[in-house]
Amino acid sequence: MESSYTDWAQLIGLFVACALVLGLLVGSFLNVVIYRLPLSMLAKWKTECEEFLREHQSDEPISDKDLNIVFPASHCPACKADIKPWQNIPIVSYLFLKGKCANCKAHISIRYPLVELCTGLLSAFCIYHFGFSYEGGLALVLTWALISLTMIDIDHQLLPDSITLPLMWMGLIANSFSVYTDLYSALFGAVFGYGILWAVYWLFKILTQKEGMGFGDFKLLAALGAWMGWQMLPLIIILSSLVGALIGIAGIIIQGRDKNIPIPFGPYLAIAGWIAFFWGEKITQIYLQFAKVA
Ligand SMILES: [Zn+2]
Repeated sequence: MESSYTDWAQLIGLFVACALVLGLLVGSFLNVVIYRLPLSMLAKWKTECEEFLREHQSDEPISDKDLNIVFPASHCPACKADIKPWQNIPIVSYLFLKGKCANCKAHISIRYPLVELCTGLLSAFCIYHFGFSYEGGLALVLTWALISLTMIDIDHQLLPDSITLPLMWMGLIANSFSVYTDLYSALFGAVFGYGILWAVYWLFKILTQKEGMGFGDFKLLAALGAWMGWQMLPLIIILSSLVGALIGIAGIIIQGRDKNIPIPFGPYLAIAGWIAFFWGEKITQIYLQFAKVA
Protein backbone atom coordinates (compact mmCIF):
# COMPACT_ATOMS: atom_id res chain seq x y z
CA MET A 1 0.00 0.00 0.00
CA GLU A 2 2.83 2.31 0.84
CA SER A 3 4.35 2.14 -2.62
CA SER A 4 1.02 3.00 -4.25
CA TYR A 5 0.76 5.95 -1.90
CA THR A 6 4.23 7.10 -2.97
CA ASP A 7 3.27 6.65 -6.63
CA TRP A 8 0.20 8.74 -6.05
CA ALA A 9 2.18 11.47 -4.28
CA GLN A 10 4.71 11.48 -7.11
CA LEU A 11 1.93 11.78 -9.67
CA ILE A 12 0.38 14.73 -7.83
CA GLY A 13 3.83 16.30 -7.56
CA LEU A 14 4.30 15.89 -11.30
CA PHE A 15 0.96 17.55 -12.06
CA VAL A 16 1.73 20.41 -9.68
CA ALA A 17 5.14 20.91 -11.31
CA CYS A 18 3.51 20.89 -14.77
CA ALA A 19 0.99 23.45 -13.57
CA LEU A 20 3.84 25.63 -12.29
CA VAL A 21 5.60 25.58 -15.67
CA LEU A 22 2.33 26.12 -17.53
CA GLY A 23 1.54 28.99 -15.17
CA LEU A 24 4.92 30.64 -15.82
CA LEU A 25 4.30 30.47 -19.59
CA VAL A 26 0.74 31.73 -19.24
CA GLY A 27 2.00 34.49 -16.94
CA SER A 28 4.23 35.64 -19.77
CA PHE A 29 1.16 35.78 -22.03
CA LEU A 30 -0.88 37.57 -19.34
CA ASN A 31 1.77 40.30 -19.35
CA VAL A 32 0.94 40.86 -23.01
CA VAL A 33 -2.81 40.86 -22.31
CA ILE A 34 -2.40 43.25 -19.37
CA TYR A 35 -0.36 45.63 -21.48
CA ARG A 36 -2.19 45.48 -24.78
CA LEU A 37 -5.86 44.80 -24.11
CA PRO A 38 -6.53 48.18 -22.44
CA LEU A 39 -4.44 50.00 -25.07
CA SER A 40 -6.39 48.42 -27.91
CA MET A 41 -9.65 49.26 -26.10
CA LEU A 42 -8.57 52.89 -25.64
CA ALA A 43 -7.48 53.09 -29.30
CA LYS A 44 -10.85 51.70 -30.39
CA TRP A 45 -12.76 54.19 -28.23
CA LYS A 46 -10.60 57.01 -29.54
CA THR A 47 -11.26 55.97 -33.13
CA GLU A 48 -14.99 55.73 -32.47
CA CYS A 49 -15.03 59.13 -30.80
CA GLU A 50 -13.07 60.65 -33.67
CA GLU A 51 -15.35 59.05 -36.23
CA PHE A 52 -18.32 60.43 -34.36
CA LEU A 53 -16.81 63.90 -34.18
CA ARG A 54 -15.80 63.82 -37.82
CA GLU A 55 -19.27 62.82 -38.92
CA HIS A 56 -20.76 65.56 -36.81
CA GLN A 57 -18.35 68.45 -37.05
CA SER A 58 -14.63 68.33 -37.81
CA ASP A 59 -12.40 67.00 -40.61
CA GLU A 60 -9.62 65.69 -38.39
CA PRO A 61 -7.90 62.48 -39.50
CA ILE A 62 -8.73 59.31 -37.64
CA SER A 63 -5.97 57.72 -35.60
CA ASP A 64 -5.34 54.20 -36.77
CA LYS A 65 -3.72 51.94 -34.27
CA ASP A 66 -3.27 48.32 -35.35
CA LEU A 67 -2.72 46.69 -32.04
CA ASN A 68 -4.19 43.51 -30.70
CA ILE A 69 -3.22 40.67 -28.39
CA VAL A 70 -1.38 38.66 -31.07
CA PHE A 71 0.07 41.27 -33.45
CA PRO A 72 2.58 42.79 -33.70
CA ALA A 73 5.16 40.48 -32.07
CA SER A 74 6.48 41.48 -28.65
CA HIS A 75 9.00 44.28 -28.79
CA CYS A 76 10.91 46.54 -26.41
CA PRO A 77 8.68 49.55 -25.62
CA ALA A 78 11.77 51.80 -25.60
CA CYS A 79 13.66 50.88 -28.80
CA LYS A 80 10.99 48.76 -30.59
CA ALA A 81 13.52 45.93 -31.15
CA ASP A 82 11.78 42.56 -31.50
CA ILE A 83 12.07 40.28 -28.50
CA LYS A 84 13.64 37.00 -29.57
CA PRO A 85 12.21 33.71 -28.27
CA TRP A 86 15.18 33.07 -25.95
CA GLN A 87 14.65 36.53 -24.42
CA ASN A 88 11.03 35.64 -23.70
CA ILE A 89 11.52 32.71 -21.30
CA PRO A 90 9.56 33.49 -18.13
CA ILE A 91 11.74 34.82 -15.27
CA VAL A 92 14.91 33.14 -16.64
CA SER A 93 15.34 35.74 -19.40
CA TYR A 94 14.73 38.60 -16.99
CA LEU A 95 17.46 37.32 -14.66
CA PHE A 96 19.78 36.57 -17.58
CA LEU A 97 19.30 40.04 -19.10
CA LYS A 98 19.60 41.56 -15.59
CA GLY A 99 16.32 43.41 -16.15
CA LYS A 100 17.54 45.31 -19.22
CA CYS A 101 16.62 45.24 -22.92
CA ALA A 102 19.23 43.22 -24.84
CA ASN A 103 19.31 45.86 -27.58
CA CYS A 104 19.09 49.29 -25.91
CA LYS A 105 19.66 48.40 -22.23
CA ALA A 106 16.44 50.14 -21.25
CA HIS A 107 15.18 49.09 -17.83
CA ILE A 108 12.54 46.32 -17.91
CA SER A 109 10.00 46.56 -15.12
CA ILE A 110 10.25 43.95 -12.34
CA ARG A 111 6.48 43.60 -12.80
CA TYR A 112 6.83 41.26 -15.78
CA PRO A 113 8.74 38.48 -13.98
CA LEU A 114 6.58 39.04 -10.87
CA VAL A 115 3.37 38.48 -12.87
CA GLU A 116 4.96 35.34 -14.35
CA LEU A 117 6.07 34.05 -10.95
CA CYS A 118 2.73 34.83 -9.36
CA THR A 119 0.83 33.12 -12.21
CA GLY A 120 3.15 30.10 -11.96
CA LEU A 121 2.76 29.70 -8.18
CA LEU A 122 -0.99 30.27 -8.11
CA SER A 123 -1.45 27.83 -11.03
CA ALA A 124 0.57 25.20 -9.18
CA PHE A 125 -1.61 25.81 -6.12
CA CYS A 126 -4.83 25.31 -8.15
CA ILE A 127 -3.71 21.85 -9.25
CA TYR A 128 -2.34 21.03 -5.80
CA HIS A 129 -5.71 21.94 -4.32
CA PHE A 130 -8.08 20.34 -6.84
CA GLY A 131 -5.84 17.72 -8.43
CA PHE A 132 -5.82 16.97 -12.15
CA SER A 133 -9.55 17.49 -12.68
CA TYR A 134 -12.25 19.71 -14.19
CA GLU A 135 -12.29 21.73 -10.98
CA GLY A 136 -8.53 22.23 -11.23
CA GLY A 137 -8.57 23.14 -14.92
CA LEU A 138 -11.35 25.67 -14.52
CA ALA A 139 -9.70 27.10 -11.40
CA LEU A 140 -6.66 27.85 -13.59
CA VAL A 141 -8.81 29.89 -15.98
CA LEU A 142 -10.42 31.79 -13.09
CA THR A 143 -7.00 32.51 -11.59
CA TRP A 144 -5.55 33.77 -14.88
CA ALA A 145 -8.55 35.99 -15.51
CA LEU A 146 -8.36 37.47 -12.00
CA ILE A 147 -4.63 38.21 -12.37
CA SER A 148 -5.24 40.00 -15.68
CA LEU A 149 -8.17 41.99 -14.27
CA THR A 150 -6.20 43.00 -11.17
CA MET A 151 -3.26 44.35 -13.14
CA ILE A 152 -5.37 46.08 -15.82
CA ASP A 153 -7.50 47.74 -13.13
CA ILE A 154 -4.39 48.95 -11.27
CA ASP A 155 -3.00 50.40 -14.52
CA HIS A 156 -6.13 51.88 -16.07
CA GLN A 157 -9.00 51.77 -13.51
CA LEU A 158 -10.71 49.50 -16.01
CA LEU A 159 -12.13 45.98 -15.91
CA PRO A 160 -12.62 44.95 -19.56
CA ASP A 161 -16.00 43.42 -20.44
CA SER A 162 -14.10 41.07 -22.73
CA ILE A 163 -12.78 39.36 -19.58
CA THR A 164 -15.50 39.85 -16.94
CA LEU A 165 -18.47 38.77 -19.08
CA PRO A 166 -17.00 35.52 -20.50
CA LEU A 167 -15.82 34.76 -16.95
CA MET A 168 -19.41 35.06 -15.73
CA TRP A 169 -20.79 32.86 -18.52
CA MET A 170 -18.09 30.29 -17.80
CA GLY A 171 -19.04 30.14 -14.12
CA LEU A 172 -22.70 29.63 -15.03
CA ILE A 173 -21.93 26.95 -17.60
CA ALA A 174 -19.52 25.12 -15.27
CA ASN A 175 -22.11 25.14 -12.50
CA SER A 176 -24.85 23.92 -14.84
CA PHE A 177 -22.80 20.72 -14.36
CA SER A 178 -22.58 21.47 -10.60
CA VAL A 179 -18.77 21.79 -10.71
CA TYR A 180 -18.48 24.17 -7.72
CA THR A 181 -22.08 24.80 -6.70
CA ASP A 182 -25.58 24.17 -8.04
CA LEU A 183 -26.94 26.15 -10.97
CA TYR A 184 -29.52 28.11 -8.93
CA SER A 185 -26.90 29.28 -6.45
CA ALA A 186 -24.68 30.30 -9.37
CA LEU A 187 -27.47 32.10 -11.21
CA PHE A 188 -28.51 34.11 -8.16
CA GLY A 189 -24.84 34.62 -7.35
CA ALA A 190 -24.50 36.46 -10.66
CA VAL A 191 -27.75 38.41 -10.22
CA PHE A 192 -27.12 39.48 -6.62
CA GLY A 193 -23.40 40.02 -7.26
CA TYR A 194 -24.27 42.64 -9.83
CA GLY A 195 -27.27 43.95 -7.91
CA ILE A 196 -25.57 44.52 -4.55
CA LEU A 197 -22.79 46.68 -5.94
CA TRP A 198 -25.21 48.46 -8.26
CA ALA A 199 -27.31 49.39 -5.21
CA VAL A 200 -24.24 50.45 -3.21
CA TYR A 201 -23.07 52.55 -6.18
CA TRP A 202 -26.34 54.49 -6.38
CA LEU A 203 -26.63 54.90 -2.62
CA PHE A 204 -23.06 56.22 -2.45
CA LYS A 205 -23.69 58.50 -5.42
CA ILE A 206 -26.89 59.93 -3.95
CA LEU A 207 -25.31 60.46 -0.52
CA THR A 208 -21.90 61.81 -1.54
CA GLN A 209 -22.36 62.96 -5.18
CA LYS A 210 -19.27 60.85 -5.95
CA GLU A 211 -18.77 57.68 -7.94
CA GLY A 212 -17.19 55.10 -5.64
CA MET A 213 -16.77 52.35 -8.21
CA GLY A 214 -17.41 51.46 -11.81
CA PHE A 215 -19.73 49.13 -13.66
CA GLY A 216 -16.82 46.75 -14.22
CA ASP A 217 -16.83 46.05 -10.47
CA PHE A 218 -20.48 44.94 -10.64
CA LYS A 219 -19.70 42.59 -13.50
CA LEU A 220 -16.69 41.16 -11.68
CA LEU A 221 -18.74 40.41 -8.55
CA ALA A 222 -21.45 38.92 -10.80
CA ALA A 223 -18.79 36.64 -12.28
CA LEU A 224 -17.52 35.63 -8.83
CA GLY A 225 -21.10 34.94 -7.75
CA ALA A 226 -21.59 32.79 -10.83
CA TRP A 227 -18.53 30.71 -9.92
CA MET A 228 -19.16 30.35 -6.19
CA GLY A 229 -22.89 30.87 -5.66
CA TRP A 230 -24.73 33.68 -3.88
CA GLN A 231 -23.88 32.19 -0.48
CA MET A 232 -20.29 33.36 -0.89
CA LEU A 233 -21.10 36.99 -1.77
CA PRO A 234 -21.18 38.44 1.80
CA LEU A 235 -17.79 36.89 2.55
CA ILE A 236 -16.30 38.23 -0.71
CA ILE A 237 -17.52 41.75 0.09
CA ILE A 238 -16.23 41.62 3.69
CA LEU A 239 -12.88 40.17 2.55
CA SER A 240 -12.50 42.77 -0.19
CA SER A 241 -13.01 45.57 2.35
CA LEU A 242 -10.41 43.93 4.61
CA VAL A 243 -7.94 43.50 1.75
CA GLY A 244 -8.63 47.09 0.69
CA ALA A 245 -8.09 48.40 4.21
CA LEU A 246 -4.84 46.45 4.63
CA ILE A 247 -3.43 47.53 1.27
CA GLY A 248 -4.64 51.11 1.84
CA ILE A 249 -2.94 51.33 5.24
CA ALA A 250 0.21 49.72 3.86
CA GLY A 251 0.16 52.24 1.00
CA ILE A 252 -0.18 55.18 3.37
CA ILE A 253 2.63 53.89 5.59
CA ILE A 254 5.00 53.01 2.74
CA GLN A 255 4.32 55.81 0.27
CA GLY A 256 2.39 58.35 2.30
CA ARG A 257 -0.33 57.96 -0.31
CA ASP A 258 -2.81 60.79 -0.49
CA LYS A 259 -6.19 59.53 0.70
CA ASN A 260 -7.95 61.34 -2.14
CA ILE A 261 -6.20 59.43 -4.90
CA PRO A 262 -8.79 57.00 -6.26
CA ILE A 263 -7.83 53.39 -5.70
CA PRO A 264 -9.54 50.87 -7.96
CA PHE A 265 -11.83 48.43 -6.17
CA GLY A 266 -11.41 45.63 -8.75
CA PRO A 267 -8.12 44.24 -7.39
CA TYR A 268 -9.59 43.91 -3.88
CA LEU A 269 -12.62 42.09 -5.29
CA ALA A 270 -10.38 39.83 -7.35
CA ILE A 271 -8.09 38.97 -4.42
CA ALA A 272 -11.02 38.47 -2.05
CA GLY A 273 -12.79 36.35 -4.67
CA TRP A 274 -9.73 34.15 -5.09
CA ILE A 275 -9.38 33.65 -1.33
CA ALA A 276 -13.11 32.88 -0.99
CA PHE A 277 -12.91 30.44 -3.90
CA PHE A 278 -10.36 28.27 -2.10
CA TRP A 279 -11.05 28.88 1.59
CA GLY A 280 -14.52 30.44 1.67
CA GLU A 281 -16.25 27.46 3.22
CA LYS A 282 -13.52 27.00 5.83
CA ILE A 283 -13.61 30.69 6.78
CA THR A 284 -17.41 30.57 7.07
CA GLN A 285 -17.23 27.45 9.30
CA ILE A 286 -14.69 29.04 11.61
CA TYR A 287 -16.80 32.19 11.79
CA LEU A 288 -19.95 30.23 12.63
CA GLN A 289 -18.11 28.38 15.41
CA PHE A 290 -17.03 31.71 16.90
CA ALA A 291 -20.55 33.05 16.53
CA LYS A 292 -21.89 30.05 18.46
CA VAL A 293 -19.38 30.56 21.28
CA ALA A 294 -20.24 34.24 21.49
ZN1 LIG B 1 15.13 48.20 -26.09
